[in-house]
Amino acid sequence: MNESIFKTEMARTAAATRSTIDELTLAAYWEEFKNWEDYLFIGALDSCRRSLKRFPTVSDVIEFRPPPAKEYRWGDSFRCAKCRDKGRLWVYHPKAYRPIREHRFVAARDLSDCVVACDACEAGEHEANRESDKCGKFKALPTFDEARMCLVTSSHLEEQIQELESFVSGADYRELEF
Ligand SMILES: [Zn+2]
Repeated sequence: MNESIFKTEMARTAAATRSTIDELTLAAYWEEFKNWEDYLFIGALDSCRRSLKRFPTVSDVIEFRPPPAKEYRWGDSFRCAKCRDKGRLWVYHPKAYRPIREHRFVAARDLSDCVVACDACEAGEHEANRESDKCGKFKALPTFDEARMCLVTSSHLEEQIQELESFVSGADYRELEF
């Protein structure tokens, strides 16, 4: 793996989980992951940031490692470029939009994300139509709606607020009713 990609991903993850990483930790993670391909490490940390509220342990990173596919190249060999074949997209939670628009947004209270079904592929259709299991744990997901839901593309708080601000001030924005 490219060392600067490694350091960038570690820093992004530290920022997203409001953690600090010292040189020793950095060196230990580097030892562990330096032989990984860039895209595997990027994918694993991306999933960790979305799923965990804390800085991932080494075994978290291993657990979240994306499956190696045959012609898997970061960004260009997914059947669905929108969700990278996961069928799921991460958007800001409905409760975030109105406060942002009304200039009374408090990140600690209003900012969170949630998962919706991709509107562009079969995997997404499956997520939108899946039957709930007995415990109701895996429910069908609402389908992504680009007029009402803003995709989360950054893991930095300031950038996330900017994403939301420009989204709700866009001409096509429709407020979610919930
Ligand atoms: Zn998709």
